Amino acid sequence: TKEDVKSYLFRNAFVLLTVTAVIVGTILGFTLRPYKMSYREVKYFSFPGELLMRMLQMLVLPLIISSLVTGMAALDSKASGKMGMRAVVYYMTTTIIAVVIGIIIVIIIHPGKGTKENMHREGKIVQVTAADAFLDLIRNMFPPNLVEACFKQFKTNYEKRSFRVPIHPNETLMGAVINNVSEAMETLTRITEELVPVPGSVNGVNALGLVVFSMCFGFVIGNMKEQGQALREFFDSLNEAIMRLVAVIMWYAPLGILFLIAGKIVEMEDMGVIGGQLAMYTVTVIVGLLIHAVIVLPLLYFLVTRKNPWVFIGGLLQALITALGTSSSSATLPITFKCLEENNGVDKRVTRFVLPVGATINMDGTALYEALAAIFIAQVNNFELNFGQIITISITATAASIGAAGIPQAGLVTMVIVLTSVGLPTDDITLIIAVDWFLDRLRTTTNVLGDSLGAGIVEHLSRHELKNRDVEMGNSVIEE
Ligand code: ASP
Repeated sequence: TKEDVKSYLFRNAFVLLTVTAVIVGTILGFTLRPYKMSYREVKYFSFPGELLMRMLQMLVLPLIISSLVTGMAALDSKASGKMGMRAVVYYMTTTIIAVVIGIIIVIIIHPGKGTKENMHREGKIVQVTAADAFLDLIRNMFPPNLVEACFKQFKTNYEKRSFRVPIHPNETLMGAVINNVSEAMETLTRITEELVPVPGSVNGVNALGLVVFSMCFGFVIGNMKEQGQALREFFDSLNEAIMRLVAVIMWYAPLGILFLIAGKIVEMEDMGVIGGQLAMYTVTVIVGLLIHAVIVLPLLYFLVTRKNPWVFIGGLLQALITALGTSSSSATLPITFKCLEENNGVDKRVTRFVLPVGATINMDGTALYEALAAIFIAQVNNFELNFGQIITISITATAASIGAAGIPQAGLVTMVIVLTSVGLPTDDITLIIAVDWFLDRLRTTTNVLGDSLGAGIVEHLSRHELKNRDVEMGNSVIEE
């Protein structure tokens, strides 16, 4: 019908706009690069992008809470138990496959050559033990103060801080003082800004803690009969209102993405510092992520659902590009919801239940990356890993990906767990910082893809429970 054609064009206009934003952003970034903008100028220039980040993050907190509470409450305990099991099995399976791919690829390509003397270093990492990190992960599942959990992301009980300390000669404060005062002031501002822990550089929430709480809360009010009615309706309507806000932000998203990408290209370091080994390492990560995202995940989706994975992925394009632009799977979450529900028609009871959890704990790209990077660092150090150590790396990389928050470069910080577990020098994370901003974007895109295909798979596997529930509730769809 005419309406269908109109909505089809409308949807594709969105995708077209987003793709155009990526292309224009890239061209604009490379055009402006030669002008060598100052740090402040770059900040001004990427302001529209920063706004997009902030808008998306603004919605994440109410979105996670309202969608999980309503998602849990809309299912009976048997259905949610089954769906939860399926989601967890999917998360575990795909994460382990990702880790194995990372390990095999880095062993075959072998990018590290055992000479770390001439490798570029950036920043410095402070030590933390694996046991501390594990306990922190569990601790954060139970935030003692819910209000604090809404604005403080990942509280650690140990001094787990990763500082980016400028080390280029022309970036040291003394160097700048010698040149002139205003440059010194600028360098000082920059140093203090960079002394923020990497994950804290973006506002975050303790998503893991809120996920656990919201699920329990939703479960309880779902079983409360009439007494829970008011709360169920409240969270349902809150969720609906948030999704309407998402629809508004989606119109701004292409512009924001354009400036996020252009700004990053303008400020990125010259490729000159990237030596041969680091270039090889980058290629290895890209190959690993591609195998997982383009072959393994779509194949798995096809095998389970017998539906065309590329049609499904086509509907996700805007979420994937947002992930690329923001390098944060939690900031992308609102867009992921929209794409899955509106373009791919995934049942809301599934998305609400599965997506917030997925964005928080299911990070295939990060898991693959962490295992691969740890082995690369071992190679650079001429450190022979035995089979047991490789197994240890797979386990800790899985844990580290669960513990990583869905914010830019969180994976780099949780990598400390992986390295310490086999006695590799954590300081060597500084070897890979120079390319991490780029690889982070790719692994975030893989993370979002994994969560979304997972929602499709869980929906397919749970179709009987969903139908039964509909019959029980006496409606064809639970809402709308
Ligand atoms: N930035 C990634 C994400 O948000 C996490 C990571 O650093 O690997 O999914």
